[in-house]
Amino acid sequence: MARIHGSVCKLCRREGMKLFLKGQRCFSEKCGVNRRDYPPGMHNRPRKTTEYAAQLREKQKAKRIYGLLERQFQSFFARAQRQKGNTGENLLVMLERRLDNVVLSLGLALSRFDARQMVSHGHVRVNGKRVSIPSYLVRSGDEISVHGRDSIKKKAAAAIEVNKGQGIPGWLEAMPAELKGKVVQLPRREDVPHPINEQLIIELCSK
Ligand code: SF4
Repeated sequence: MARIHGSVCKLCRREGMKLFLKGQRCFSEKCGVNRRDYPPGMHNRPRKTTEYAAQLREKQKAKRIYGLLERQFQSFFARAQRQKGNTGENLLVMLERRLDNVVLSLGLALSRFDARQMVSHGHVRVNGKRVSIPSYLVRSGDEISVHGRDSIKKKAAAAIEVNKGQGIPGWLEAMPAELKGKVVQLPRREDVPHPINEQLIIELCSK
């Protein structure tokens, strides 16, 4: 889990980019990177990058943001290629649909790490059934809810309180009092909140 180091979280500082590991906090003024006009760790020095380095960096960014290992990323990419339409858009939309991402986007967890743990420890249900696979892809109409011990519910409620007022993506509907949310419709490319250039990823992965 990324730790706060000064005003920029440790992993973002190390990677020199915003990795969106802290849920809604990353989109708020609380994120130290938002208060800078240069990426963390770069100390205002412009870097020269080759085309390959830019492509690789974009893929690393997507992997870090969604917390994926290379093997997992390649598996998503292969699925995106098999789908109709634009592979890059398919990829990002699928990553948004991951259950751990939905838990985080609904404000039920403070970080992606917490969201993933909630899912893998069996504290999240989809349409009333326990789903412990963080990479599970939600569908339109799915209802996501938190279940478990009081301590789990208190943690989710505390996360909702911290995330209050920081916005829920339009494709999701939050029901904070009941510790749950609903997938109103599947996300589209414009619903992906992260600055990822999927074209660079496609160029790299299609070589
Ligand atoms: Fe921390 Fe998120 Fe900002 Fe990164 S983007 S520094 S994880 S608040």
